[in-house]
Amino acid sequence: MLLIACPWCGDRPELEFRHAGEAHVTRPADPAAVSDAAWTGFLYERQNPRGLYRERWRHLHGCGRFFNAVRHTLTDRFLGSYPPGGEPPA
Ligand SMILES: [Zn+2]
Repeated sequence: MLLIACPWCGDRPELEFRHAGEAHVTRPADPAAVSDAAWTGFLYERQNPRGLYRERWRHLHGCGRFFNAVRHTLTDRFLGSYPPGGEPPA
């Protein structure tokens, strides 16, 4: 069973979590001022790396909080997790 480390609850089974997309996607400060292409990029364009990927998760059936994690997309191995606004593990 795959274990995911919630920064507040520790290692828990993956069934307690919900994937919430790519981490560190920043909404434009003034959406009316950006071009359609930039807005489309914010809404739909995400990285699809072969390797390390920083993504958001939610501990849905636990504390309910969102956090970020670094996962290797080929091995599905988690290298660490950190609270929103925190620094990713080295
Ligand atoms: Zn938790």
